[in-house]
Amino acid sequence: MSAVRTTCPYCGVGCGLVAERDDKGTLRLRGDPDHPASFGRLCVKGAALGETLGLSGRLLYPQVNGQRQTWSQALDYAAGQMKAIIEQYGPRAVAFYASGQLLTEDYYVANKLMKGFIGSANIDTNSRLCMSSAVVGYKRAFGADAVPGCYQDLEQTDLLLVTGSNAAWAHPVLWQRVLEAKRRRPQMKIVVIDPRRTATCDGADLHLALRPGSDGALFNGLLREVVRRKPLAAVRFAGQEQALAAAEPWHLAACADFCQLPQAQLRQLIDWLCAADSMITLWTMGINQSTSGSDKSNAIINLHLASGHYGRPGCGPFSLTGQPNAMGGREVGGLASQLACHMDFVPEDIARLRRFWGSERIAQTPGLNAVALFDAIARGEVKAVWIMGTNPAVSLPDSLRVNQALACCPLVIVSEVAAQTDTSRYAHVRFPALAWGEKNGTVTNSERRISRQRPFLPAPGEARADWWIVAQIARRLGYGDAFAWQHPQQIFCEHAALSGFENQGQRAFDISALAGLSQQQYDQLKPVQWPVTAQHPQGTDRLLIEREGWRKDGRAALVAVEPQLPRAVVGRHYPLLLNTGRLRDQWHTMTRTGAVPRLMAHTPQPQLAIAPADARRYGLRQGGLARVVSPQGWIAVRVRVSDEQLAGSLFLPMHWTDSFAGQGRVNALVSAACCPHSGQPESKQTAVRVEPW
Ligand code: SF4
Repeated sequence: MSAVRTTCPYCGVGCGLVAERDDKGTLRLRGDPDHPASFGRLCVKGAALGETLGLSGRLLYPQVNGQRQTWSQALDYAAGQMKAIIEQYGPRAVAFYASGQLLTEDYYVANKLMKGFIGSANIDTNSRLCMSSAVVGYKRAFGADAVPGCYQDLEQTDLLLVTGSNAAWAHPVLWQRVLEAKRRRPQMKIVVIDPRRTATCDGADLHLALRPGSDGALFNGLLREVVRRKPLAAVRFAGQEQALAAAEPWHLAACADFCQLPQAQLRQLIDWLCAADSMITLWTMGINQSTSGSDKSNAIINLHLASGHYGRPGCGPFSLTGQPNAMGGREVGGLASQLACHMDFVPEDIARLRRFWGSERIAQTPGLNAVALFDAIARGEVKAVWIMGTNPAVSLPDSLRVNQALACCPLVIVSEVAAQTDTSRYAHVRFPALAWGEKNGTVTNSERRISRQRPFLPAPGEARADWWIVAQIARRLGYGDAFAWQHPQQIFCEHAALSGFENQGQRAFDISALAGLSQQQYDQLKPVQWPVTAQHPQGTDRLLIEREGWRKDGRAALVAVEPQLPRAVVGRHYPLLLNTGRLRDQWHTMTRTGAVPRLMAHTPQPQLAIAPADARRYGLRQGGLARVVSPQGWIAVRVRVSDEQLAGSLFLPMHWTDSFAGQGRVNALVSAACCPHSGQPESKQTAVRVEPW
């Protein structure tokens, strides 16, 4: 029996799996009891991974304009086209759109090519849609994009606030850990803040069904009340007076009125908050996917800093990532707004990268973020886009516009596992990429834990690693010496060396102690939380304790937050707010999970959840069809009348690419309005109307 330890390819919990073959060659997958994120647990999606490994529907050979080509032909063609576009229109006319599904090594190579050698920062990622508001929040508060805590904190805390997250469905194994902790310590309080009554509320002591999008006011109100009832922490943070002044108007009655919450519920929460020795606030897309997502993230962090709930076990702000390697993407500079290893577009960091990579072509300014990138394609300013491991034709907001942009783009390159996706139908070049179980590298989960994804299946057809494909193009563009790796271990070690390069404690992301790993050590690397340095070779569970300087040197800051409601305005034509999100048993656009009958059985069709009063008002019945119309488009879906919904708000799952009619996908409806600081779209609130269909 041979066993390979690897990491789940779905959500940001980052559970460990063991893939084993028995003597007859039969493959079995089980939870890894030694993985410190999951201790052997798997959710229903992870447990069904073995049923998703067939080659049906796989892209197995390179293609150019629909014709099978050799690798040399396809690479020569793609590189030649890119080179011609760069020579004629400049480096900003090309772009990458990457994915939180990529391994860190893949991401590193793509970022190095784009920002280090092509010389433009036009590389962004679908993680922009996931956590870029939290990134802005952390950078403004701590000067670093760093989730301070670890999963044990969630088990140790006295008070857990869960806001904008249906963790029971979207991060199930982490939620199992929380519920087990609650069973052991019933005095631990769980408060869920969400307009919907989700499965996460089942384990909560209190559910605040607040008005959609009003979280900023709620956290300002909590800040105001807490600093009145508890002495302020001795530390004076930058921006403290301004943040408290901005919170001042949000007295209990004003807060309750704005958030449409009973005052008694707010009083209860404030009592618990003031009594709690430790507190965590867990958040995801309900906060981040908002036109004020960055400010909401800071409103949460403000509360923790001012109340002293940080830097200790069981304390801290804690954003979860949606994808298996959204964090790894942040580390290598996969966002257009940052450079590698959390460096910024400032002269010192640009010079540092120039010295490390030996390139005179380092990008000098931020590139286009996801929504802006596809707008630039539509305008003809970006003429070549390379899309890696993601399906923006479905997953970006206002998807009809995205499809129109791709249709008119002169060069679309797609690196994919699936032969047919909504995006790949626009591709001029299709590169077959390795899938989970075949590829080899690292991912970082929501608690900064770097884990290995190891191969346990042979590469099918002519599929190759994403990093290899990008490196081959780099060589053809004339940058061969800097892209001459033979194994992902060499890439990881270069990335680790860069993290420590001229880094005298300025950057939190530092894994320099891993820079000298041999191939064997890389193969055997155990899950470890960064920073991993000479001082902390076994990694670091909590950042704010380890980095006392954050408290002492005034780097931590509060940010004054003026609460905003969603940009979407409900009115006579569009009287309802549409929320979108994940289901328990599906993953993204269902390429994998949609092929598993037992996962499909949970929810076989997309369903519009609507409150009973709204269903009556708009003439909809349980199981009937509804037409959902927004200023962007329309779709037709089945109706599910549900008292989990707040009156005036609807919910649709994000996974399906087809519905009964219209543009099919939910993102045909969603507005592309973005947070001005993070560029993250407001996927949680779109004004719509509904009618029988
Ligand atoms: Fe995979 Fe997330 Fe489920 Fe864990 S909780 S098995 S990482 S989908």
